[in-house]
Amino acid sequence: QKMARGLPKKKQPIEGVKQVIVVASGKGGVGKSTTAVNLALGIKEVRKDKMVGVLDADVYGPSIPRMLNLTGPAFLNEAKQIVPLSNYGIKCMSMGFMTDNNAPIVWRGLMVMSAIQNLLRQVAWAPLDYLVVDMPPGTGDTQLTLSQTLPIDGVVIVSTPQDIALLDARKGAEMFRKVEVPVLGLVQNMSVFHCPKCGHDTHIFGKDGTKSLAEEMQLETLGDIPLDIDIRETSDSGKPVVVSNPDGPQAKAYVDLARRV
Ligand code: ADP
Repeated sequence: QKMARGLPKKKQPIEGVKQVIVVASGKGGVGKSTTAVNLALGIKEVRKDKMVGVLDADVYGPSIPRMLNLTGPAFLNEAKQIVPLSNYGIKCMSMGFMTDNNAPIVWRGLMVMSAIQNLLRQVAWAPLDYLVVDMPPGTGDTQLTLSQTLPIDGVVIVSTPQDIALLDARKGAEMFRKVEVPVLGLVQNMSVFHCPKCGHDTHIFGKDGTKSLAEEMQLETLGDIPLDIDIRETSDSGKPVVVSNPDGPQAKAYVDLARRV
């Protein structure tokens, strides 16, 4: 917090980018990146003529390159801007394109901040109708600084229905509210496992916890995504479910989410 106070507070838009949608989570591993990528692809699906980009601001564990089957390095154009990589009609930029895949990254706070600023502002994003930002998990300086320096049109908070995740999701929503960034609502992820063999539904992380939190905080439930092997496998293989099986129920869940943002 101390560090964020020292930085300029003036919000500066990214040239040529019309709307910024942030995907955040309180806790790691709840499916934030998976949601961000499928949401971006869903927006592209719903609004076909629009230009969509994804910024992987999770510099500690960039996972978007793999999900979009992209590998760096990224190169500079003549204007010395970093050229985003593209796949499935989506422009993408990630710290994963700037470093060796196998090298562990040891970041310190200020380095993270300047890395993200570079990924936002030194990249040839334009023209873009939607930039989906995959935030790092949590409510630290990165989230705070981004909220204070970038005009954000809306935040989507992803949580599983598990108590421990909800606690952190609530903190996240409260932080964004405090800095007057509009929270569009919550996405309940990994809500239910439907057994393909016996047809039984199991609520592995609890039932409807995220929906209850949304109601309590007077936020919308923007999506309800099951715990589903296709979602996991298609993300891991670099062809997310919205593009690999666009007519399936999993893709529909993300496209419905895209319609709400
Ligand atoms: P985060 O960005 O919150 O750390 P990820 O999106 O990387 O989380 O997801 C963590 C793991 O869970 C990944 O292996 C991903 O494929 C898997 N996953 C995410 N959402 C789902 C889902 N709805 N069903 C099955 N697996 C999921």
